[in-house]
Amino acid sequence: MAEIQVIGAGLAGSEAAWQLAQRGHRVQLFEMRPGTLTPAHQTGRAAEMVCSNSFKSDDPNSATGILKAEMRRMDSLILRCAEATRVPAGNSLAVDRDAFSEAVTAALTAHPHISIRAAVVAEPDLSKPTLVATGPLTADPLAEWLARVTGSERLHFYDAIAPIVERDSIAMDIAWKAARYDKGGADFINCPLNQDDYNRFLDALLAAEMAPLHDFDTPYFEACLPIEVMAQRGRETLRHGPMKPIGLDDPRTGRWPYAVVQLRQDTLAGDHFNLVGFQTRMKWGAQKEVLRLIPGLEQAEFVRFGSIHRNTYVLAPKVLDATLAVKGVPNLWIAGQLSGVEGYLESAAGGLASARFLDETLRTGSARSFPRETMLGALLHYLANASLKDFGPTNAMIGLLPELPEGEVDTRTAKRAGGRAGVKAAKGAAHRARALAALETHIALEGHPA
Ligand SMILES: Cc1cc2nc3c(=O)[nH]c(=O)nc-3n(C[C@H](O)[C@H](O)[C@H](O)COP(=O)(O)OP(=O)(O)OC[C@H]3O[C@@H](n4cnc5c(N)ncnc54)[C@H](O)[C@@H]3O)c2cc1C
Repeated sequence: MAEIQVIGAGLAGSEAAWQLAQRGHRVQLFEMRPGTLTPAHQTGRAAEMVCSNSFKSDDPNSATGILKAEMRRMDSLILRCAEATRVPAGNSLAVDRDAFSEAVTAALTAHPHISIRAAVVAEPDLSKPTLVATGPLTADPLAEWLARVTGSERLHFYDAIAPIVERDSIAMDIAWKAARYDKGGADFINCPLNQDDYNRFLDALLAAEMAPLHDFDTPYFEACLPIEVMAQRGRETLRHGPMKPIGLDDPRTGRWPYAVVQLRQDTLAGDHFNLVGFQTRMKWGAQKEVLRLIPGLEQAEFVRFGSIHRNTYVLAPKVLDATLAVKGVPNLWIAGQLSGVEGYLESAAGGLASARFLDETLRTGSARSFPRETMLGALLHYLANASLKDFGPTNAMIGLLPELPEGEVDTRTAKRAGGRAGVKAAKGAAHRARALAALETHIALEGHPA
């Protein structure tokens, strides 16, 4: 079997290395941490989660639920380790980030076909099959090399991370535990704000001192905006975004508060909670002051402050085909966030897919793309075929899947039974059934020439 280089032991590279090794290939896995850290990573462990600790919704019929089912079917290491280290988080799959990355590191280290090399790779040797999975914070020399060999400019934008506080420092006589509309367990801590609290908080946020940005032309990614940017867009924006109170009855009043800040458990021991959607570029001192204006967080002790970092990805529709191979450059594949997907789960899924593409190419001379009816196939199809003009990283979304055939879902019956949510669930279930059937067919043909 071939010797393959995988560069980057993040969510994508770890999954890819393990999948390739399971298929009998010898893998050299290059990782620059802990010797050289990125601005967001803090450890030398594989698959470190740099911000939230969530792999998103576990609802089986949601886009991420379907993607998880596909990954599970293909024996994803990342998903297995996530499920083994999960912490309560309503109907999402959230993990103890340390236990999770320790489990991934242990699996990689123990695998007889994987050797982990500590190095900052600047120019990979393309005489060997090479997968680059160096993520949104790819070290500069490699990013420059990639721009050169792909003949493309790099794109940057800013991504933000949310603060984490100690559980014991949250005033639970003010905050309460519940999930929105009581869906899943009562796993979130909710801090209620009345109108005065909200206005005071907003005024302080808008006046707070911000850390400097270095690349002035770099835009933010719309799905991960810092709270201060949202606040600048209008006084109601946060109340309709991360501070929305709907479905959260305050037990002290029996009503939804004017606004709510939600915190989600971050470690298995339950002693750290992150502020959901509260990415921020405020200076650390300002974060302490402003966030302590939130009722219940007056005495909050911060384990980690929020911050903003650059994100890097290739212009996938120009650079990649639907099997993540770099067009016109033999032996080179790109996976994970660098390929233009967004999120831990999507990056791990991309890593998994890239390993199968590499393996199939090495065995049969070419690789088949995943069926578009699968969530993974739809995501990769989007990368290869999106409009170049407004291309931006994408999450798994039902909207990426091809329409269901007419009459596939009895919308009238579903609506009668469950209203709009009922129709959504029925459509999700139909998409899931179709995706998993298509995946089975795809897997059954493995080993056959494309
Ligand atoms: C600040 C920030 C916050 C984020 N918050 C979230 C979030 O809350 N939820 C979410 O789902 N996603 C979030 N993301 C996106 C998240 O990073 C990715 O979804 C995911 O980690 C990407 O996986 P990856 O494997 O592509 O990259 P990574 O997990 O970043 O792994 C890349 C690895 O490559 C290594 N590396 C880089 N350059 C080199 C080199 N030249 N040589 C050797 N090794 C190298 C890095 O050290 C790293 O270990 C965030 C990203 C950033 C930057």
